[in-house]
Amino acid sequence: MKPPALTRVADGVHFVNTGSANWTILTEGRSATLVDAGYPGDLPAVLWSLERLGHRPEDLAAVLVTHAHVDHIGSLPELLRRAPHAKVLTSAAEARHVRREFLEQATPFDVVANLWRPGFLPWALHIVRAGALRDVRVPAAEAFPAAGPLDVPGRPVPVPTPGHTSGHTCYHLPEAGALITGDTLVTAHPTSRSAGPQLLASLFHHDEPAVRAALDVLEPLPAGLLLPGHGPHLAASPADAVALVRAGRG
Ligand SMILES: [Zn+2]
Repeated sequence: MKPPALTRVADGVHFVNTGSANWTILTEGRSATLVDAGYPGDLPAVLWSLERLGHRPEDLAAVLVTHAHVDHIGSLPELLRRAPHAKVLTSAAEARHVRREFLEQATPFDVVANLWRPGFLPWALHIVRAGALRDVRVPAAEAFPAAGPLDVPGRPVPVPTPGHTSGHTCYHLPEAGALITGDTLVTAHPTSRSAGPQLLASLFHHDEPAVRAALDVLEPLPAGLLLPGHGPHLAASPADAVALVRAGRG
C-alpha cells in the first residue's frame, strides 16, 4: 500500500488524500468520525490513517457519507466489520442510495465512451484495480436523526447539496472553519487538466444544473478551508472558490 497524504488541517480535523479519493477524520478524545471511505481497495489506507492518529476502527462512533458512489463508500462493508459501534449516517435520500435501493452513478459504459478524453484511460485502469466495479452496498446506512449539528465527534453540520447525487450532503465544521465539499466542488481530478476549484466532468453528475444550484448553498458558509472529495485541501472561502468556478475555471 502506498501511504496516502495525511494532513492535520485544524484541531481534531485530519484530511486524507490518496491521489484519487479523499476522506476526513474528525477526532475527539478516544472517539472519531470518518467522513467518506474511499474505494474498496482503500481499506488498508483507511485503517492506516486511523492508526496514524492513534485510533482503532472500534473507536469510530460514526461514518458520515457525502454520497454513495463507490469511491466514497467502497471500504465501508469491510471497515464496519471492525467498527461495530459506528453508525453510518447521511441524508434520507442518500441513505437509500447507500443501501442500493437505487443507483445514480456513471456506468462502465459511460466511462468506456469517454476513454478518448485525456486522462480517462489511466484513471479507468486505476479505479478498476481499486475495486470500482464491485457491487458495494451498506444496508446499515440511516438518515440523520435531526437537522443541525450531529452529536458525533467533530459536531459536523450537514449541508444538503443535491445534484451530484439526489441526496448529496456537504458537512460544515463551524468550529474548525472548514467545509467538506464532497463532489459538489472539487480542486482536482485525475480526468481534469485544471487545478483549483472546479466541478467534476458532466458525466459524473446525476443532475448538473442542480450541482450549480448547490454552489449557491455553499457560497455564504463561513469557512476558510475546503476539504473536497477529490484534489488537495484548499485554504479558501466557499465564496472565493464558487466565484472561481463561476468565472469558468470549473
Ligand atoms: Zn467521487
